[in-house]
Amino acid sequence: MAKVLIVDDSKTSRRILKNFLTQFGHEVIGEAENGEIGVEMYKNLKPDVVTLDITMPVMDGVEALGKIKEFDKDAKVVMVTAAGQRDHVMGAIKAGALEFVTKPFEENILKKVFEKICV
Ligand SMILES: [Mg+2]
Repeated sequence: MAKVLIVDDSKTSRRILKNFLTQFGHEVIGEAENGEIGVEMYKNLKPDVVTLDITMPVMDGVEALGKIKEFDKDAKVVMVTAAGQRDHVMGAIKAGALEFVTKPFEENILKKVFEKICV
């Protein structure tokens, strides 16, 4: 059971992710539509896990990851990626992302990733 912050500029992606996570027994305690808002919400809400979409306006997921890690080096961050984002993925690994999930979300993969993180 984890308290999760979802950061994604796509309302549809946030809804789908929230539905899955809620179904798995997690609690979505906040949603943000870009990295800048996401970082602020992370500081205020202190979630157990934050999901960061990579491509977002204002501040993308990789930059937000850096700022969140700066604030909390133990932050558990799941990056949300789309196809063709290998460079960003490498950057996120270096910056300390814990896991990656790819859009479109697959229930089984998402479930496993969160089970692994929440032990
Ligand atoms: Mg996006």
